[in-house]
Amino acid sequence: ARRSTNRKIEWVSLRKLLSELMSKSTRLDSKENESEHLPIYQHKAKLIQAVKDSTFLVVTGETGSGKTTQLPKYLHQAGKLSFYGKIGITQPRRVAAITVAQRVAQEMQCNLGREVGYQVRFDDCTSPSTVVKYMTDGCLLREILADPVLSQYSVVVLDEVHERTYKIDLFLVYLLQDILLGLLKKMFSNPAKTPKGRSIPLKVVVMSATLETDKLSAFLGGCPIFAIPGRAFPVTCTFGFAVGPKDIESTGYVVKVALDVHTSEMAGDILVFLTGQSEIERACDLLYEKAESIDYRYDVQDQTVEGLLILPLYGSMPTDQQRQIFQPPPSGIRKCVVATNIAATSLTINGIKYIIDSGFVKQLNHNSRVGMDILEVVPISKSEAQQRAGRAGRTSAGKCFRIYTKEFWEKSMPEYTVPEIQRTSLTAVILTLKCLGVHDVIRFPYLDCPEERFILEALKQLYQYDAIDRRGRVTKLGELMVEFPLHPGLTRAVLKAASLGCEDLLLPVAAMLSVENIFIRPGHPEKQKEADKKHRALAAKSGSMNDFATLLSVFQSCKSSDRPSAWCKDNWIHWRALKSAFSVETQLREILLRLQQKKDFPVDTFDGNKSELFRRCLCTGYFTNVARRSVGKVFCTMDGHGSMVHFHPSSSLFDQEDELNWVIFHDVLVTSRVYIRTVCPIRYEWVKDLLPKLHEVDVYELSGVAREEVTDEEMIKWETREAAKRQPEVSTEDV
Ligand code: ADP
Ligand code: MG
Repeated sequence: ARRSTNRKIEWVSLRKLLSELMSKSTRLDSKENESEHLPIYQHKAKLIQAVKDSTFLVVTGETGSGKTTQLPKYLHQAGKLSFYGKIGITQPRRVAAITVAQRVAQEMQCNLGREVGYQVRFDDCTSPSTVVKYMTDGCLLREILADPVLSQYSVVVLDEVHERTYKIDLFLVYLLQDILLGLLKKMFSNPAKTPKGRSIPLKVVVMSATLETDKLSAFLGGCPIFAIPGRAFPVTCTFGFAVGPKDIESTGYVVKVALDVHTSEMAGDILVFLTGQSEIERACDLLYEKAESIDYRYDVQDQTVEGLLILPLYGSMPTDQQRQIFQPPPSGIRKCVVATNIAATSLTINGIKYIIDSGFVKQLNHNSRVGMDILEVVPISKSEAQQRAGRAGRTSAGKCFRIYTKEFWEKSMPEYTVPEIQRTSLTAVILTLKCLGVHDVIRFPYLDCPEERFILEALKQLYQYDAIDRRGRVTKLGELMVEFPLHPGLTRAVLKAASLGCEDLLLPVAAMLSVENIFIRPGHPEKQKEADKKHRALAAKSGSMNDFATLLSVFQSCKSSDRPSAWCKDNWIHWRALKSAFSVETQLREILLRLQQKKDFPVDTFDGNKSELFRRCLCTGYFTNVARRSVGKVFCTMDGHGSMVHFHPSSSLFDQEDELNWVIFHDVLVTSRVYIRTVCPIRYEWVKDLLPKLHEVDVYELSGVAREEVTDEEMIKWETREAAKRQPEVSTEDV
């Protein structure tokens, strides 16, 4: 039937409609039935038995077969008889932990936070009655730190163990999974014995999509593998014309393909894979703009399609919005979800028939050129592309539109993805291991053993931050640092500030740097100009021109505003991101308060003005990221790599480079050039005493395995010699 009107879909109002629908339709019985159609259901009894039968069990099955939502529920149902403690399930991504917990609570007809709850960094939704607890890997690790035998748990499920690759932001350390596996393996080094301190045996289930199960089982002493037979329909794949990351960043091409699919394909929902929050939001805006001009009387092939519902999906999204992703669209409306890699394995959306694959992913890589971890947009692997395509064939045959060329597939896409533990620096991981009492971090049983040089690199960094001493033992400072879910450098700056009683300056900054992208960068050039102007004004308002101070100023101005969301809109700031920053700040403050109550919390004094105080605190954490102006607007890093770097255009100091000599920076973006972002001018004297620490250290000594004991005296001699050799030749002239 043709429609005579041109229906435009207002996705804001639709969102309201959807949430109303949701609150009304708590038809839980049907939900329960729905889950009985999942492939895992037929294997319920056998699965429960398999968990009972052995300490370790590997469970594998196609994405969407029901592993994450159903298995914990089954164990709980069997529980009263067999499993006396809590059931803990880890997820690499916080979004997944939250949405899955919501779903399971719904299926089990209880309020979230009661029997079923979740805990992720900065958000604990559990209560004493919680028995099924979804959490991030990091949370479980923290629990092991506090209670090494996990005495409250009867079953621990490590989920998504194939997904050991991607990170959404710099401070989440997904390779924690590797540590968890190693620790659990160590805990059961003698499988016949229940670990000391436990009255009941602990069962460990490791779940993964099909890839690495043999390897996992071998790692866990050849434990049984339970494979849930899957069903998949054929997916036809076609290639497009995109040739590089530029086509992804601009999102124009992706949007065009999505519109083509919408207008020329039969009904069925679309899932678009893009790289990150900003690309996704830009694509959604553009898609919405373009979709408005579709005339549904003439433009669409399938006349039952009457509108498009556009939904973004990425890690830092608020949970109420995430929930809508799973709702079936109203009849006649096609749903288009624009997502990060999160939709590849962690979350399954029903009804998807078309995939649009950008071929890229944001991935944290250790960049040896600049000597640090960098979030880069890189091609996905072929196996990853197949996994993405497979999402279209869950319930019927589907289509996958790869926007890249066949040639790109052949030449630029690797066969498999390298596990993250082999790609990134391991600083936080190594510190955690050390605090867990694992001294020999080189011979720890890693699932994918990282290269030794990366472990040594991490030890070096920890030594530089004073988190370990030169024999590789954790210092008092290190013990404080491990409590913070932040990058060690940032943690150190916060702790320094706290010792000086000025944590109010640093906590907001740490929070702002922990959430994704505060500043809105509109695609439209005119609007971009307007946004830039507002952002510059905010920078100027902070008094001292530096990007960290700007973050602080945005945080404070918004917080003290009567109508914070309006304030954000007015200033081109992401209100959602800021809201999370507020919550992160509160939680960091709680951690700090707890630590400050310890009697040996360091106390320091400083006299000087506030701007200097602020920047000096930053220096204690960022002396590893110091750059000095070399020629013109080009700066040179002082970390021994001597990389040439440029200010990123988003910096409030962009274009004023020639007036500065020394700066510290938060992170690096590599495109055709190496850009430094979030920059702050400093004086050389502030880092002078810290810089030699970047060079003086003997990493083998730190690892605690090599070389005979060196006396302190010798060490000091050696250090002075090395320091003298490497001291950069500079004047103390300042900005
Ligand atoms: P697996 O872990 O094997 O990949 P899941 O347990 O995640 O599978 O998914 C099983 C089913 O539950 C899928 O059909 C998925 O769409 C559905 N599901 C999962 N989470 C939600 C949710 N929050 N809302 C609605 N449906 C969901
Ligand atoms: Mg799952």
